Amino acid sequence: MSNNLLQTAAANLKKAVPLMLKYKIPTTPTNYALWYTYVGEQTPELNKAMDEAIEQNQTCSPVTSELLYRQHVADPVELDVRSLRKSLDAMVIDLAQSVKDTNKDTQVFQEQIEKDFAKLSEIEDGGFSLDQIIAVVRNIVKEQGNIRSSTVSFTEQLLKAQAEIESLKSKLAESEKDVLFDSLTNVLNRRAFDDDIVAQVANKESQCSLIFADIDHFKNFNDNFGHQLGDLVLKTVAKRIQEACRDGNKLYRYGGEEFAIICPNSNQRVARHLAEGIRRALEKLTVKDRRSDKVIDSITASFGVHQITEKQGVAELIEAADKQLYEAKRLGRNRVMPIS
Ligand code: GH3
Ligand code: MG
Ligand code: MG
Repeated sequence: MSNNLLQTAAANLKKAVPLMLKYKIPTTPTNYALWYTYVGEQTPELNKAMDEAIEQNQTCSPVTSELLYRQHVADPVELDVRSLRKSLDAMVIDLAQSVKDTNKDTQVFQEQIEKDFAKLSEIEDGGFSLDQIIAVVRNIVKEQGNIRSSTVSFTEQLLKAQAEIESLKSKLAESEKDVLFDSLTNVLNRRAFDDDIVAQVANKESQCSLIFADIDHFKNFNDNFGHQLGDLVLKTVAKRIQEACRDGNKLYRYGGEEFAIICPNSNQRVARHLAEGIRRALEKLTVKDRRSDKVIDSITASFGVHQITEKQGVAELIEAADKQLYEAKRLGRNRVMPIS
């Protein structure tokens, strides 16, 4: 754990608390986390939104705080994330308590030292025995020991908190991965596709194409060899397509046995060429059925390709690519449409 991180964490907590008092923010765990993030200045959108709220209302209302917390601090897409949020909250409470304790100790220490100093000046004025002088000095040494140990324990807690934040972060990244990836094939899932296609359409600068691929007569694999083998075919096909997707082309499991590929910087001709390459690679695939020891070498897929044009919305271009895929099926499968 770097000393820098530790100092940042302590500095942030010290900055956050006065601001919360100033704007009359209730000291709930959520608010601590929110303001801790605010003073960290790592999330510009959060700071902008909070600055605006405070400028308008001189405070940040509970609803606004909760919304901002959800948007920028915690990601409530998954239950898993919600439980992480709870531990984050608990951690912040711990930290806040230990800041309070340290401050209290510091105050007690200061009062004691002031008393001791007062006694020392009395000593200077004379009339005290050696025993009394030693007692005063002993007291000072003892108090110093106390404050030192309480600072050490605060530092330990900050270190622990830092470690915990690190582990929470990696767990968050893990659960985020589940949200975007398909668990069977490990390629990006439909949710990721829905997000990415919108972003791609909004980015009007580059030429971009969409490919739909659907495994031919996939139902037969399930019917003849069982669902498990069907799954194996799906995984094998996804892996092979993924290998072919270089240069920023992104593969998604669109549904059942249907895949989508978003090809940025690819016009119709380039995307068609990619689809054709994948089609031929899939033809060569073989999968062995463990139950019957039979080798399955009849895996093929059909493809629909569509270059995204500026005027089209997301729904329209999905429909256009789908129409080409349907055409490939109608004409006998194992082909790429349109033909040029
Ligand atoms: P076509 O050539 O017209 O595409 O025929 P098809 O049999 O591939 O298409 P259809 O839509 O009739 O059947 C798709 C089947 O895929 C039906 C469904 O049970 C199966 N399926 C969908 N998801 C999975 C999955 O995750 N695992 C397995 N094993 N089968 C799946
Ligand atoms: Mg199919
Ligand atoms: Mg299908």
